[in-house]
Amino acid sequence: MPALDTPVKFVRGVGPRVSEMLAEKGIQTAEDLLYHLPFRYEDRQNPRSLDELKPGEVASVIGEVRGAILMRTRRGPIYEITLGQGRFAMKCLWFHAAYLDGKFHAGQSVAVYGKVEPSRSSKSFTTGNFKMIQPQFEILPDASDDAETRLLEVGRITPVYESLGGSRLASRWQRKVIFNLLEGVRGAVPECLPRAMLERLDLPDRETALREVHFPAESTPFAQLQSASTPAHRRLIFEELFFLELGLELKRRRMKERKGIAFTATDKVREAIREVLPFHPTAAQKRALGEIVADMRAPNPMRRLLQGDVGSGKTIVAFQAMIVAMENGYQTALMAPTEILATQHYLAARKLLERSSRKPRIVLLTGSLDEDRKRYNRGLINRGEANLVIGTHALIEEKVEFDRLGLAVVDEQHRFGVLQRFKLMKKPNQPEPDVLVMTATPIPRTLALSLYGDLDLSVLDEMPPGRVPIVTRRVSGEQAEQVWTFVRKQVARGRQAYIVYPVIEGTKDDQPELDFSRDEPEAGIAAAPMAARKNIRKGKTAELFPASAQEANPTAKSGLRSAVEMHEKLRSGPFAGLRVGLLHGRLDADEKDVIMRRFQRGEIDVLVSTTVIEVGVDVANATVMVVEHAERFGLAQLHQLRGRVGRGAAKSYCILMTGERVTELGEERLNAMVRTQDGFELAELDLSMRGPGEFFGTRQAGLPEFRVANLLRDRQLLELAKQEAARFVDHPDEAVTESERARVRVQLKQAWQRKYGLVEAG
Ligand code: ADP
Ligand code: MG
Repeated sequence: MPALDTPVKFVRGVGPRVSEMLAEKGIQTAEDLLYHLPFRYEDRQNPRSLDELKPGEVASVIGEVRGAILMRTRRGPIYEITLGQGRFAMKCLWFHAAYLDGKFHAGQSVAVYGKVEPSRSSKSFTTGNFKMIQPQFEILPDASDDAETRLLEVGRITPVYESLGGSRLASRWQRKVIFNLLEGVRGAVPECLPRAMLERLDLPDRETALREVHFPAESTPFAQLQSASTPAHRRLIFEELFFLELGLELKRRRMKERKGIAFTATDKVREAIREVLPFHPTAAQKRALGEIVADMRAPNPMRRLLQGDVGSGKTIVAFQAMIVAMENGYQTALMAPTEILATQHYLAARKLLERSSRKPRIVLLTGSLDEDRKRYNRGLINRGEANLVIGTHALIEEKVEFDRLGLAVVDEQHRFGVLQRFKLMKKPNQPEPDVLVMTATPIPRTLALSLYGDLDLSVLDEMPPGRVPIVTRRVSGEQAEQVWTFVRKQVARGRQAYIVYPVIEGTKDDQPELDFSRDEPEAGIAAAPMAARKNIRKGKTAELFPASAQEANPTAKSGLRSAVEMHEKLRSGPFAGLRVGLLHGRLDADEKDVIMRRFQRGEIDVLVSTTVIEVGVDVANATVMVVEHAERFGLAQLHQLRGRVGRGAAKSYCILMTGERVTELGEERLNAMVRTQDGFELAELDLSMRGPGEFFGTRQAGLPEFRVANLLRDRQLLELAKQEAARFVDHPDEAVTESERARVRVQLKQAWQRKYGLVEAG
């Protein structure tokens, strides 16, 4: 009898050659194979009748092949079969499918799965008026196949799997192998969760769950199967999430046991903050600072995430925490993802602390400083003469050693995973510094808890007072002239504008990972209907730019516009006489710095740029953000860009120009931007459009990959798993036996070694 950790090559029906293919898919053991779940099911006990289909629905249909033909057309070979069911029939078409020739013949029973489309074919010889384009299909077994195959394929709810390697290891193969494996381990799948917990949560045991999820009982509600919400699914998903959360919970606890610095927050410290604070903090800022200071006072290292939408005022919260550290006689560091931001923070810190009676020494350390300056600054840091250090990656790369680092703040951490490396920055025998991570990525709370699972979370969910909502409009490239006129008017009122392009120069993407222009949804998955698309194209822009006055934009059809090229064009054309600046990532740091400072001082009216200005740049007098080729940007980016305006009291505008064909998803993104300014709402949408794997670039952030769970779909189970993990650690359940606890620990270790090795090690 195979154990679950049996190498997959010993599983009946696999063997050494196939096991190599499986290894590529991450399947190494019998257990891995059992946790490779069907991605959908076909109800072959109650097949759908052709006459009850509705156009537009995605359905699975079983019929008999009445005819098959390979048609050579100018656009390539099209393979067509006619699928009959009594007096009804339906056509199925596959493009470029010469390889299908000979595969089908009359009389075969075939299951197809796809979107039901109305058929315009006038030759239709029956009453069936539907067709399917590129459906998935399976030729069903007939009397000549063996009994086992027939048993698994027809007259039941049939699991459909993603192929594990070509057509050979497609669904049919997996059904057989998994079926046999389940038979082989019958009665011998060890339970890994305590029985009392399963009873309380009303979840089936592990073996039952595995069996039911692959070969559901006839009575299983089909909708539950398709949405992965049967008790069997829930059990397996919960199991995976429980071990994730349990591991994170234990990590958090271990962190709390490590020795850190116990800062004090005396009246003197409060006074030091009060004398520099330029405004009344919002309630959210007060709460967040309270949480941070409570951590800082505790004798263990702080690991906290400060999350707040663009403009919510994270910087001042961080500076206050830094003042606490400095008042306690420690050095403090702030690390930003770009030189521009580091410089901006440096200037902001100097301005803020100007009023301080303590006169802390503030030092900037970025890669572009000349060597002498760097060496000098490193010396100040090393001897403890620098109190507040602001920098970029250089802080880590230049092997800076602090004399007494007490608090490190990391801005926009998702750009670089550096958390552990702060350990390198302290001298031996010094306690671990506290770490505060700031992010403007509005991650839905449950996800934040998993992404940054070993961090505690503070949220700024309130904007500083006096913000005027930003007017967001979507316009087509043809309306460019009106946009430029609008920008000129704003400049005439003393305002400043950003014009953002997706590329620096030419048409080649400098940042291919930012290109969202080709992300069509998968074929077969229904997207927004055409009618909706047309509505989106019309309307909406009328208020700012009446359609009657449209003029052709000469560059609109010449492909991608770039920052360098448009800087030239705008400067000599529409913006002649204005002060136009250019900013992009290929300028060297000094040049960037000069441009950004001039823009900040109001010496540049219009800044033509790439997404370099995306994060954190703060110029309150800038009221217009124009994004060209807005369809190419992701939601997170558009939201960040829009956050660059609306930072002062004046009314601000975000104009999203589209230049080329816009995909369905692009339409959805642009609409969402027009509809809402709420970062959390946009994050939810981004999540649902892109899935957690791609969500806001979380892949780099170390989001673990799951076998059965899907963070988007299973957020409630994630919440439950988190509660149960905390309960398991905190309130040992009397009904849970010692051997069950031991079993949980073993499973936890395995799960973490296998899957979550990459999660931030704190
Ligand atoms: P972000 O969270 O995006 O980093 P910032 O810290 O840059 O936001 O703050 C955005 C702007 O709001 C800054 O100009 C800052 O000075 C201002 N600000 C922050 N907090 C307050 C407050 N409580 N009252 C008024 N203005 C504030
Ligand atoms: Mg910021």
